Amino acid sequence: MIVPPGSRIGIVGGGQLGRMLALAAARLGYRCYIYAPETSGPAADVSAGWTQGSYDDAVALASFANSVDVVTYEFENVPVAPLRSLSQRLHPNLAALEVAQDRLTEKDFVARLALKPAPYRAVDDLEGLRSAIAELGTPAILKTRRFGYDGKGQARLASADDAETAWEAVGGNPSVLEGFVRFDREFSIIAVRGQDGAFATWDAPDNVHEGGILATSTVPAGPFIAAQAGDAIAMTKALADALDYVGVLTVEYFATAAGPVFNEMAPRVHNSGHWTIEGAVTCQFENHVRAICGLPLGSTALAARHVEMRNLIGTQADDWAAILGDPTAHLHLYGKGEPRPGRKMGHVTRLSVE
Ligand code: AMP
Repeated sequence: MIVPPGSRIGIVGGGQLGRMLALAAARLGYRCYIYAPETSGPAADVSAGWTQGSYDDAVALASFANSVDVVTYEFENVPVAPLRSLSQRLHPNLAALEVAQDRLTEKDFVARLALKPAPYRAVDDLEGLRSAIAELGTPAILKTRRFGYDGKGQARLASADDAETAWEAVGGNPSVLEGFVRFDREFSIIAVRGQDGAFATWDAPDNVHEGGILATSTVPAGPFIAAQAGDAIAMTKALADALDYVGVLTVEYFATAAGPVFNEMAPRVHNSGHWTIEGAVTCQFENHVRAICGLPLGSTALAARHVEMRNLIGTQADDWAAILGDPTAHLHLYGKGEPRPGRKMGHVTRLSVE
């Protein structure tokens, strides 16, 4: 279905991803309306309307959906059931959301498609954790099945003695134990799939994390990642096709000596794709809008020789004046109030063209 420019796009979630989606949509003549439980958020400054409502409220979500022409989401921890009645006008679809919001479902799903996740075991109690450790060995990482992001809801185990502490650290919630992957680098494939099945990917960024949070994304990545990007793109396409996916899909991989190992997927635009705003012919946000509205996709080609995106976490954003002193820096601030530790306040992208 084509949703032409001038139409209304509903976005579930009102954070910085919603903000950047709304900015890209506005360039194409769309107006964005946000649905989120908070009273306001980064997307509020740049969107046409904000509906405050709970993600559990099926009635409020249905009436929100009826007031717009197409609905998308910028946050995957939204319950699926209340969205069922709007699934006709929702992209990406509910299957993608359902798979991505539960680490166990996600790993089972991608393993069936030969995407090679790290070795894993489902863990439902402390006894189960002990037997999973016996099978997978240590070091290992325990991750909650749901609501984990930016390294939250995770506990590392150096030995079997850490079982109890790790189980407490994840709050005794249903979890997955993952074998520790010895990787050289981390990268992501940011892909977009249109309503007609057209598929494109951007250059695979080399992602560096600090304290479980993305610090930088750099393209082009070095030869180690470049050599395995082709396999990772093929895996990502298999996943997107299997889900009949529409929109931007991100898959994070570990680059290991044995090739790419699947880490996790996000059914949405992604922090490791922010560099595309200035660094690619068409950015991830615009192509997401194009895909969900049934428009042709724009080129994902690199628009510079070298691009680096650096997140501004917590008080790092206070350096905005110094950053603007560099005439090649593109500064993005998300309009968040308080710079709490670990909070993504903005990012800066630097391009080099010569
Ligand atoms: P995640 O939120 O699952 O992406 O985890 C955050 C970061 O922790 C990843 O980007 C990796 O740097 C590290 N990590 C997560 N899972 C593993 C694993 N199985 N083996 C080694 N490092 C991991």
